[in-house]
Amino acid sequence: MTQARLLDGAAIAQAVRTEAAAEVASLKAKRGVTPRLGVVLAGDDPASAIYVRNKDRACREAGMASDVVRLPDATRESLLQAVRRLNEDPLVHGILVQLPLPPGIDASEILLAIDPAKDVDGLHPDNAGRLLAGLPGFVPCTPAGIIELLRRSSIPLAGREAVVLGRSEIVGKPVALLLLRENATVTVCHSKTLDLAAVARRADVLVAAIGRPALVTSEFIKPGAVVVDVGINRCTSTQDAARFWPGDAARQEEVRAKGWTLVGDVHPAHAMATASAFTPVPRGVGPMTIAMLITNTLRAARIAAGIPVGA
Ligand code: NAP
Repeated sequence: MTQARLLDGAAIAQAVRTEAAAEVASLKAKRGVTPRLGVVLAGDDPASAIYVRNKDRACREAGMASDVVRLPDATRESLLQAVRRLNEDPLVHGILVQLPLPPGIDASEILLAIDPAKDVDGLHPDNAGRLLAGLPGFVPCTPAGIIELLRRSSIPLAGREAVVLGRSEIVGKPVALLLLRENATVTVCHSKTLDLAAVARRADVLVAAIGRPALVTSEFIKPGAVVVDVGINRCTSTQDAARFWPGDAARQEEVRAKGWTLVGDVHPAHAMATASAFTPVPRGVGPMTIAMLITNTLRAARIAAGIPVGA
């Protein structure tokens, strides 16, 4: 039986970051500008702390500056104040408020307070509207990373049937718009979609972003489809690990040693047996998200320096 080609997000993300680092060096040398990201970390969610640490490290590796504003006891007011300070700081080019915010704080109000010109996560309604209108702007990092991963893997999109599982503002909706921009024929599914598997099976390119561990099984996947797994979930059972990654003793060992391993929204063994190409979890879409944060921050710095940028 032929196995799906693994789309190596980690390697492609590294290539994107290396290219960005060269551009950062040139911006510094020619204009004296160092791109700078301001990250706001609210509350004490351990996963958020890890994501922020990785983003901070990636910025530094690309030669950018990065400041993390930590608000362990964040309130609506302290968050708004932190965002305002970053908006007003001329040395800061990009702002990222790490989500989710602590319970009781309305994320949409905080995101609305970000200067759209510094909104490198692309979540401000101005940038979401620009994407919808086909205007240049900041595109959310995960959807932008998915398109970049497919482009650099030479996966054709024009004229192909794309199905997106999930309709969140952060992944599902923007990736659907980007696929449409690439001339795919796009269907968006959600929790009220009837016969999800039958709709998914129409896809030449299937994007799963629902947050349900390994829900997408072989009955969802048309033989030969390209499957993009956005999900990041914990698999805590060694039996599940044995089913998801048969013959991969390291995965079961990871569950035994650490208590969990990461699994996406797609059953990995089923995707490997049915798809023509598949993004693994980890080392698929995740690293691309960070790479696009770097390129978005670089873009913001270039615009602020008056240098023309593409769409
Ligand atoms: P979200 O905001 O919770 O949205 C989930 C979407 O999936 C919703 O539209 C929901 O439908 C739909 N859904 C949930 N259960 C479903 C089901 N059983 N059948 C059909 N649709 C269903 O999640 P998100 O922020 O988009 O994230 C999705 C996944 O991607 C999560 O695992 C998250 O951790 C991961 N993620 C990864 C990255 C990365 O860098 N790799 C970045 C962001 C997110 P309704 O709208 O009807 O509720």
